[in-house]
Amino acid sequence: MSQSTISAAQYRGDKTFTVQSVPLPSPAKGEVAVRIAYCGICGTDMHVFHGNMDARVGFTRVLGHEMSGTVEQDAEGYKKGQKVVVRPLDHCGDCPACNAGHQHICHSLKFLGLDTDGAMQEVWNVPAHTLHLLPDDIRMDHAALIEPVAVACHDVRLSSLQAGEDVLVIGGGPIGVLVAMVARGAGGKVVISEVNPHRLKIMQKLGFETINPVEADLPAEIMARTGNKGADVVFEVSGTQPGVDAMTACAATRARIVMVAIHASKPAVDMFQFFWRELQLVGVRVYEPEDYEKAITMITSGGVDADTVITDVAPLADIQKAFENLDASPTALKSLIKVGA
Ligand SMILES: [Zn+2]
Ligand SMILES: [Zn+2]
Repeated sequence: MSQSTISAAQYRGDKTFTVQSVPLPSPAKGEVAVRIAYCGICGTDMHVFHGNMDARVGFTRVLGHEMSGTVEQDAEGYKKGQKVVVRPLDHCGDCPACNAGHQHICHSLKFLGLDTDGAMQEVWNVPAHTLHLLPDDIRMDHAALIEPVAVACHDVRLSSLQAGEDVLVIGGGPIGVLVAMVARGAGGKVVISEVNPHRLKIMQKLGFETINPVEADLPAEIMARTGNKGADVVFEVSGTQPGVDAMTACAATRARIVMVAIHASKPAVDMFQFFWRELQLVGVRVYEPEDYEKAITMITSGGVDADTVITDVAPLADIQKAFENLDASPTALKSLIKVGA
């Protein structure tokens, strides 16, 4: 054993991290030790930072699930040095969802990095079944985007988007922009609705059509741009009441509306439109293994403009500042922690 302690960022509650040395944990049976390279800060991590999940994360939780890394020592069919990402889901294996083959929505799903310690530490022990191998030449900072890209791949796959269809993405945050990129990759004609002018600029730089619903009548704009038809697929990524109002107002006949955002309270939904235009509402949660494989391809093929999405990188020692900066910044999209030396 070359090293007996590692640095780990523990979340202490009250918007406070402490970075400290902890004993190097040994992997349990069935686990693989992964040396972390980069770990992205997720909206969920920010939610914890705002004190919304105290009961779930406790008082010493190591956060982080949007990671890239290398196998630390040979184990469970993996070789030291292989580049990997973790699909951070651990399922029970025996519930109605698991028995139906939907392990990603297991009734007692554990989300690694929230329900267990995560990747904001130098070495992370994870169940072998959560690993996906990466090609040797992938950039490790880019690879930290695979988890959120897999979210987008799952959302687009479940939307049944066909090439040539009109797509509206409501909300241009980190997940919205990735959904837009994956939908464009699938042949969709994508328009993004976003209120933040800094983000609108980034979307335009990425070649997307954009609408600011504060300045324009969003449904009227969508109708004008689609020959009065509406959007065939609508992704609600804003998590706001105006977003929910727009999702039905902008939808074409028989459109699929994909609920990507997590709405903390119950929004008012115009159910009449579901009758009138035979709309479909599609629920989506995390991802399945095939979404991870697709996300790896999106990253390696350049289907996702990773350099534009990654707006900030900070070392693990500066995690406190990184969270504070991301929280305060109107321009940031994805902020990465560089965990490895
Ligand atoms: Zn995430
Ligand atoms: Zn289960």
